[in-house]
Amino acid sequence: MRTPAGTECPYFYGDYYRGRNQEECRLLEAAPPANHWTPDLCRTCPVPAITRANACPHLVLTASISKTLLGLRRQVKIEAFCTKTNQAVSEPQIGCGECHPLPPITTEGKSK
Ligand code: SF4
Repeated sequence: MRTPAGTECPYFYGDYYRGRNQEECRLLEAAPPANHWTPDLCRTCPVPAITRANACPHLVLTASISKTLLGLRRQVKIEAFCTKTNQAVSEPQIGCGECHPLPPITTEGKSK
């Protein structure tokens, strides 16, 4: 579904039927009140770009809200985990490399 920022996000839900105006982020819905979702978070959220780049069914995203420098703005922070290899994924847009081997240029200098 299209977010208030205009990007497609599988975690956004909006109900506008018959005058309703209910919007929610189903990735951040469990966040405590101080970290509740507001539509402005979609503008800088990395999730739409991650899901466009990587559709791996084993990739699980966990979201939290962090504050920018000086605490003036909130932004979505994403952590990714692969349920197939049971490891954290540092580059969720690329993946862990198990199902879709990474080209050598992406792994140079990372091992050893
Ligand atoms: S905050 Fe991110 S994950 Fe949540 S609805 Fe907006 S774009 Fe999607």
